[in-house]
Parts: sequence; structure tokens; C-alpha cells
Amino acid sequence: MFFAVSKTAKLRNLLLAGPNAQRWKWLIYMMVFFLAGYGASIVLVLTNQVDILLMVTGIVFFVGAFFVLLVVITTKSDVKQIKDASSVLTTKNKELEKINTELDLFAYRVSHDLRGPIASIRGLIQIVRSAKSKEESEVCLEKISASTIKLDGFIQDILDLSRNSRTEIAIEPVDVRVMINEVMDSLRYMEHDRNIEFRMNCAKSLVIQTDPVRLKIILTNLITNAYKYQDAKKENPMIELSCSKADQNFNLSLKDNGIGIKDEYKDKIFEMFFRGTDRSVGTGLGLYVVKEIVEKLNGTIQVKGDLDQGSEFIVDFIVS
Ligand code: ADP
Repeated sequence: MFFAVSKTAKLRNLLLAGPNAQRWKWLIYMMVFFLAGYGASIVLVLTNQVDILLMVTGIVFFVGAFFVLLVVITTKSDVKQIKDASSVLTTKNKELEKINTELDLFAYRVSHDLRGPIASIRGLIQIVRSAKSKEESEVCLEKISASTIKLDGFIQDILDLSRNSRTEIAIEPVDVRVMINEVMDSLRYMEHDRNIEFRMNCAKSLVIQTDPVRLKIILTNLITNAYKYQDAKKENPMIELSCSKADQNFNLSLKDNGIGIKDEYKDKIFEMFFRGTDRSVGTGLGLYVVKEIVEKLNGTIQVKGDLDQGSEFIVDFIVS
């Protein structure tokens, strides 16, 4: 008896904490009314008051039928809501599994990509110490400088990634051309063995409402790649950046006549740490960061082009 009562109490607490708590409360009141009706019927039978008995049983029967109907509807609704919640949990679980796998890969690559250049710098310092000529030292110092640039790029990518996932979107008016010029200025240090023509098709004073920090990271990564993956065999290397705004949609296209991307790599290049060519000396994180940011801005990124012909990256996102 105690067990049954304690189970009933547990069930009641569960239902009253559920999504249909209010309805279950009313159903409990109805059950009390129901029991009282039964009690009254017994008394009426014992006292032989047939007319009132018929009326009371009629009411109790009617309320009982309504009660059963309500229980069925409410249970169905509870089951549906539990199913919905469980499908949300399944999706969240899958997301967590993905994050876990990425974290494993991340820890492995971070240690590998950070330790690689550090080990190389340590070795080069030893060589510089025992170098016999100035030229030998100069070569080593150049290599040390290249390793530190690589380390810096890696740390920058990780910071961009973490900032994107941790900080909220901060909308401000952004003059797109001004921002592109800022990015181009910050990339001047990049070494180019040849002159690459840079064309810009963006309306003057095109001001959009967006997150400037995130837009800058997108532009920096795409423009840097367009420079990095130029084709030495082409006579007129060029990069063409176009942007436009129609209604709430901002469109950015970055086209180059560089080495292009193999068809089978066109999806993979957006994966974490994926490098699609021996020419890459980077982290393989740049386009992953760009994709994560574009998705945070509720946008899309796609790549077009052919191997040996060039590539075009098209970014679309909503601006206010
Ligand atoms: P990284 O440049 O460090 O390798 P990214 O994530 O920026 O990493 O790019 C991933 C890969 O996509 C590169 O290794 C390269 O194969 C390819 N890629 C990116 N941009 C271009 C481009 N403009 N032209 C040709 N290949 C590109």
C-alpha cells in the first residue's frame, strides 16, 4: 500500500513538473470530484434515494468520460513534447560528439604545429651559435623569422576561432571599401615575387551594418589566400574583389587566376586543418575560421573555379 501511494506521489510530482502541469492539476481536481461522486453514490444507494442517485451517477459518468478524453489528449501532448525534447537531445549529443572529435584533433594538431616551428627555431639557434660565417647566420635567422611568422599565424587563427565562438555579434556601420583598404595595408608585409594586380568592384561609400571584427577576419583570410595561391606560370596574376548589397543581403566575391582547387577538395578545404596543396605553409585553419564566422553571421560560403584556372570564393550574409 505504502509502495503504491509513494509511486502515485512520484508520478504526480513528475506530471506536475511537466509541460502540461496546469492540465494535470485540473485532472487531479476532477479525480477528487470523481471519487467524491462515487462516495455520494454509495451513500445514496444505502439510503435508497434513487432519483438523486440517477442524477449523481449521470453527472459522475459525464465528468468521467470528459476526464478520460482529457487524459488521452494530455498524455499524447506530453509524449509528443518528450519526443521533441529527446530529438533535441539527440541533435545536441551529435554536436557534442563532433566537438569532441574536433577537440581531439585540435589538441593533436596544436601540439604538433606549435612544437614543430619551436623545435626548428631551437635547432637553428644552435647553428647560429656555432656559425662560422655571417652568411650562414643570416640564412638561419631568415628561417627563424619564417618559423616565427608561421607560429604567429597559427596563434592568430586559434584566437580568431575562439573569439568567434565566445563573443557575441557586435553590429556597427562599416564602410566596406575603407575596411578592404585597411586589410590590404595590413597585408603589405606579405612577400610577393611578382606584381599582382588587385581590382576592386565595390561601390564607393557602401556602408553595411555588420560585425567589423568578423568581416575583417573573412576579408583577411580570403585575400591572403588569393595572394598565397597565385600561379607563377600565369603572365598577368590578378585578384578581383567585388561586393554588393541588395536589400538585406551582402555579397562578397573574391576571384583569382591562381592555381585553382581540385574538384574533390572543394568541400574539404573548409574543414579544420585541411591543406589542399604542397604550396600551403599555413595551418589549414583559415577557411575553417571563415566558414565558422560566415555561419555565425547566418550566411553561406561557396567556392567555384577550376584547377589551374583560378578560384572564386563567394560569401553571402544578411546585414541590417
Ligand atoms: P592554408 O592556407 O593554411 O592551407 P586554408 O584553410 O586557408 O589553409 O585553406 C585550405 C586550402 O584551400 C589550402 O591549403 C589550399 O589548398 C586551398 N585554397 C584556399 N584558398 C585558395 C585559393 N585562393 N586558390 C587556391 N587554393 C586555395
